[in-house]
Amino acid sequence: MRSGSLSLASTDYLQLGGGRAMGRYSTLLCAPIMGKSVDQMLNKIGTAKAGGADLVEVRLDYLNNFNPRQDIEILVKQSPLPTLFTYRPKWEGGEYEGDETKRWDALRLAMELGADYIDVELQVANEFLNSISGRKPENCSIIVSSHNYQHTPSVEDIANLVARIQATGADIVKFATTALDITDVARVFQITVHSQVPIIGLVMSERGLMSRLLCPKFGGYLTFGTIEAGMVSAPGQPTLKDLLDLYNLRQMGPDTKVFGIIGKPVGHSKSPILYNKAFKAVGFNGVFIPLLVDDVGKFFDVYSSPDFAGFSCTIPHKEDALRRCDEVDPVAKAIGAVNCIIRRPSDGKLIGYNTDYIGAITAIESGLRGSHSTNGSSGSPLAGKLFVVIGAGGAGKALAYGAKEKKARVVIANRTLDRAKELAELIGGEAISIAELENFHPENGMILANTTSIGMQPKVDETPIPKQALSSYSLVFDAVYTPKMTRLLREAEESGATIVSGLEMFIGQAYEQYERFTGLPAPKELFREIMTKNY
Ligand code: NAP
Repeated sequence: MRSGSLSLASTDYLQLGGGRAMGRYSTLLCAPIMGKSVDQMLNKIGTAKAGGADLVEVRLDYLNNFNPRQDIEILVKQSPLPTLFTYRPKWEGGEYEGDETKRWDALRLAMELGADYIDVELQVANEFLNSISGRKPENCSIIVSSHNYQHTPSVEDIANLVARIQATGADIVKFATTALDITDVARVFQITVHSQVPIIGLVMSERGLMSRLLCPKFGGYLTFGTIEAGMVSAPGQPTLKDLLDLYNLRQMGPDTKVFGIIGKPVGHSKSPILYNKAFKAVGFNGVFIPLLVDDVGKFFDVYSSPDFAGFSCTIPHKEDALRRCDEVDPVAKAIGAVNCIIRRPSDGKLIGYNTDYIGAITAIESGLRGSHSTNGSSGSPLAGKLFVVIGAGGAGKALAYGAKEKKARVVIANRTLDRAKELAELIGGEAISIAELENFHPENGMILANTTSIGMQPKVDETPIPKQALSSYSLVFDAVYTPKMTRLLREAEESGATIVSGLEMFIGQAYEQYERFTGLPAPKELFREIMTKNY
């Protein structure tokens, strides 16, 4: 194994720290509860139970007018879910600023009153555990935790940290670090997957999301899911609903194959909804997650195990990803961009494909023929048409290549004129600047395809071409699919053009990716149904 790259082993715990005997261990789903009053807390605990949480973390440091004996007793007795009590001080990233004796007294009280878990910070763990020596109830587990809000240390340093936590006599080890890059998460997985003790290893921030989503695969004892989006106790926590309904957490295990979309930004992508729902419907043991990647080469170097079985690729990485693949399909090579990468099971090599081309061109041809069906006359309705592509990135290259293949005459309009010229030369077309589009109307009945991200959420008021210039086009396609109806499409429709949404391209390109990911035929009706329901 390369140092820093990820290798795996399955994890079994037969005995948990608190004496709870379990068979094959499965990751627990914990909802952090932050309320100003006990009533608010109980209300939120009810919501967490309805949302599918296994336990709640009661954050005592958020309570106003805290009356330890009375409040803890009510919370323990009335909580419909097992409780983990945390009283986090400011010095460890929490809200509590008072004296340590009171804080420890409250934690000891929680333990005595029947809490299932209490959380104690590593910095004070030895002293605290000495103070309860011989008094800890059988059914209460002590989590000793450490939080690093700056970065994620090396594997060696994390291993040392885990050893220090274990040495305190903790029942459960917890450490949380911060991801500056998505590859930081691999070091945490390396620790959790090999751990011989129950361990919670989480990586905070958007780039650490994978650590929270893949806990059941990499041996995490517990992961946090919030009852509402944004109601987080640490940066990057997903919702309970997303963990259960979108990422199918309960179906995930050590053998689950990981797929994901590599991009920056990546949060807008509908791919996780589409693939995860389809995987679940057909019983395929895979999960599809968003991967916020800064450096594609580094990402592939670190996540090199067969568990990371395939990737979709979006802005701005499609061209770089092509250079990082071991082999590239001839069509993707001709286009100069890949949007689908498969790890070949026989030798682990990364093979790049371009499925954007088929998805987009089929959708435009169907639009010209007046239906979404892929059947039609044998010749392409694109033959001989003047086809204007706005953009010269990954999607632009795919559209330009596809249009040329279908014997259209291609014009590329791009913000960076040199890139337009380069692409025009490659496929045999013309290049203009994006500013020239306004007065570009050499003939009527042209096709326009926007392949820039202009008009994509959140900048939905933007459009790449003034409305008055749209009257020369008979069909306008927009690769942007969030929102489904972009300003460009709205204005094109008002100008009398047929419009084709990026959603059609999205569904078309996804059919082919799904078949490459799973080796199964794509459930096409299901895809359309999922995408219709999720807009
Ligand atoms: P990319 O490789 O990064 O290319 C982006 C292109 O957009 C470049 O030509 C760039 O021009 C241009 N651009 C970006 N911001 C611009 C701005 N503010 N003004 C003018 N031009 C701008 O990205 P990509 O992978 O091709 O994706 C482009 C868009 O297509 C994204 O919105 C993506 O979501 C969408 N897409 C949709 C599907 C689908 O299935 N519907 C599939 C693929 C992509 P420069 O060369 O001057 O930088």
